[in-house]
Amino acid sequence: MTKAPEQIRPEPRAGIMDIAAYVPGKSTAAAGVAKVHKLSSNENPLGASPHAIEAVKRLAEKMEYYPDGSAARLRQAIAATHGLNPANIMCSNGSDEILGLLAQSYLSPGDEAVFTEHGFMVYRIYIQAAGATPVVAREADEKADVDAIIAAVTPKTRIVFLANPNNPTGTYLPFEEVRRLHAALPKNVLLVLDAAYAEYVRRNDYEAGVELVAANENVVMTRTFSKIHGLGGIRIGWVYAPMHVIEVLERMRGPFNVNAAAIEAGVAAMEDRAHVDRTVAHNAEWAEWLSKEFNALGLRVTPSVGNFLLVHFPEDAKHSAAAADDYLGARGYILRGVTGYGFPNALRMTVGTEEANRGVVAALTEFLRS
Ligand SMILES: *Cc1c(COP(=O)(O)O)cnc(C)c1O
Repeated sequence: MTKAPEQIRPEPRAGIMDIAAYVPGKSTAAAGVAKVHKLSSNENPLGASPHAIEAVKRLAEKMEYYPDGSAARLRQAIAATHGLNPANIMCSNGSDEILGLLAQSYLSPGDEAVFTEHGFMVYRIYIQAAGATPVVAREADEKADVDAIIAAVTPKTRIVFLANPNNPTGTYLPFEEVRRLHAALPKNVLLVLDAAYAEYVRRNDYEAGVELVAANENVVMTRTFSKIHGLGGIRIGWVYAPMHVIEVLERMRGPFNVNAAAIEAGVAAMEDRAHVDRTVAHNAEWAEWLSKEFNALGLRVTPSVGNFLLVHFPEDAKHSAAAADDYLGARGYILRGVTGYGFPNALRMTVGTEEANRGVVAALTEFLRS
C-alpha cells in the first residue's frame, strides 16, 4: 500500500497501537463531596513514614544534584533489612519499571509469556510492548493454578509472571506451590515473582521468593515501596535477582532511573520498621472487620492476604457493582472497578482509615436497602 506524500508520518512498531493502555484507579469523586477517601490504588491509609517525609523535605534543598545512579545507599538499606547481598538488588522507578525491563530484555517477537486469568494487568501491557504474545493461564477459585500455568508453557515461553499475592484478588499461592511451579519450568524460562504485597501477608506457608532466587538462575523477585511503605507517588521498586539478570537489567535501565528524593525517602522508609509494623497491624485489624461486615451484608469477599478486598455484588441490576460504585463515589468513597480483570460485578476496595472503612460499610448498608 503506497501512501501519498502528505499521508506519510512516523509510525510505531507493529503491535504498539494494539496495546490497551493501563487505566489507573480513579482519584476524584463526584463534585461537591466534602471529603474524598481514595480506596482505589492500594495505598497506605497511614501515609508514608514521618522519617521519609522529613528526608524528602531535606532533599528539596539539594535538587540541583544528580542522584547516585546505582542507588547504592538504598540498595544497602534494602539488603540490610532483608538479609540480602546488595549486588543482587537493582532499584527502579516503581516495580512496574522492572517488569517492563524484564519483558524488554527477555522477550522477542514470537516469544510467549504467561500470566494468570485475573493477574495484574501490567504484565500483558509489557509483554505486548516487547512484541511478544501474552498467554493467559486460567485460575481456579480466583487463585493462580499451578497446573494450568504449567500447561500454558510451550517451547516459545520465555517468562512466567506470577503476582503473589495477586492483585486484584488478594489470593496467594503457598510456597510449596510456587516451588512446584518452578520445578516444572524449563531452565530457560524466567519466573518473575511479583511480591508487591509480601509485607502484608501473615501466613506460615507464604514466602516472597528470596530462597528460590538465591538457589536458581531463572527466578527473580520484584518488590515495591508503593504499598506498605506508602510511597506510591515517589516511585520506588526493586528486584532481587541472580547476577546474570542484574547485568542485563543494568544495561537496559535509564542511567538515573531512581530520583534523588526517592532514594532519600526509600532509605528512611526501609529503616522505619515501626511504621511498617503499625501498617501491618492496622491492615490486619481492618481487613478482617471489613470482610465480616461485607459478609453480614450478604456480599461475598474473596479471601485476601493483601491490603485490599475484592467485593462481589448481587446479580440484580439495581445493586450491581457499577451501581454501588456510583453510589459510593457520590459520597466520596472511591473504589476500583475491576471489569478489565474479568470481574464485571465486583469492586476492589483498599483497606482505608477507620473513618473510611466505617463510612463505606455504612454507605453500602444504605445502598443495599435502597
Ligand atoms: C501495585 C503493584 C505493583 C507495583 O507498583 P509500583 O508502584 O510500580 O511499584 C506491582 N505488582 C502488583 C501486583 C501491584 O499491585
